[in-house]
Amino acid sequence: GSIQASVLGLGAMGGALAEALVRAGHGTTVWNRTPGRADALAAHGATEAASARDAVRAGRLVIVCLLDHASVREVLDPLAPDLAGRALVNVTTTTPEQSRELAEWAAAARATYLDGGILAVPHMIGKPGSSILYSGSGEVFREYRTVLDLWGTGTYFGEDAGLASLYDLALLASMYVMFAGFLHGAAMVAPSGMTARAFAGMAAPWLSAMTSGLEGFAAVVDGGDYTVAGQQSLEFSDLGDILAASAEQGVGTEVVDAVQQLIRRQIDAGHGKEGFARIIESLR
Ligand code: NDP
Repeated sequence: GSIQASVLGLGAMGGALAEALVRAGHGTTVWNRTPGRADALAAHGATEAASARDAVRAGRLVIVCLLDHASVREVLDPLAPDLAGRALVNVTTTTPEQSRELAEWAAAARATYLDGGILAVPHMIGKPGSSILYSGSGEVFREYRTVLDLWGTGTYFGEDAGLASLYDLALLASMYVMFAGFLHGAAMVAPSGMTARAFAGMAAPWLSAMTSGLEGFAAVVDGGDYTVAGQQSLEFSDLGDILAASAEQGVGTEVVDAVQQLIRRQIDAGHGKEGFARIIESLR
């Protein structure tokens, strides 16, 4: 059935989340610090609240999508008495410790707390490919599952409110390093006259094909034996040629240097014949 939900924060992401609720016919109250961002939503049937307090009081389910942890605390701190008895879902990107801190704060305010990490950009909300990680109150996740599923496929990781943030940020770490690697390659080929677009045309299928290697690395890491046969060795993985070619092209080597250092540390410790996955030992 229809539920009463409130959305605090109508930035690019909060606006998309609110729009999905309105379109699905849920009673939706919205609030944004700077006025004027609710007009399009109001035209579709959302109610604009004059204050964050009014918005909280209007919804059994309170969704928060602000800039960062500090802005969430700034907006919610004065509203603790108003949140009692309500379900609070915070999809603002925060660190795991910040998520846990907010969960404790919510518990003290007698609100139930679910933390979310959104693996999508705003235009993907409500479309295939949108995925949202949740942790914290399993009760909130189950009770509002149909609402949460309006935004994307929801996955719940358990009562520790920090887990959704942790897994979200781990995936973002993988993504940013891959993107930086792509841009490094684009910088290498640029002096030859190749456009970044042409390079992207080569890099996308190559990187997609290479993701099939992740499972092999994972099996070695989980098994804890870096000497398993069939792996590319650390010695074979020396990035000297890549660094030299980058320098020849006049391209900065920070991105590749970081990986080379992780490899070197393991080779210097006598593990050169072992598999590439061993660089995880340089990190932890
Ligand atoms: P925007 O910059 O578009 O919106 C930020 C929102 O936060 C605005 O509503 C802004 O209000 C509000 N805000 C900022 N500071 C304060 C404050 N001190 N008090 C009250 N309100 C404040 O960001 P997004 O909507 O893109 O992102 C929101 C969250 O969603 C972030 O944590 C982001 O990491 C996360 N996210 C975003 C994704 C994306 O692709 N956009 C993807 C995945 C997660 P005002 O209009 O008044 O400035």
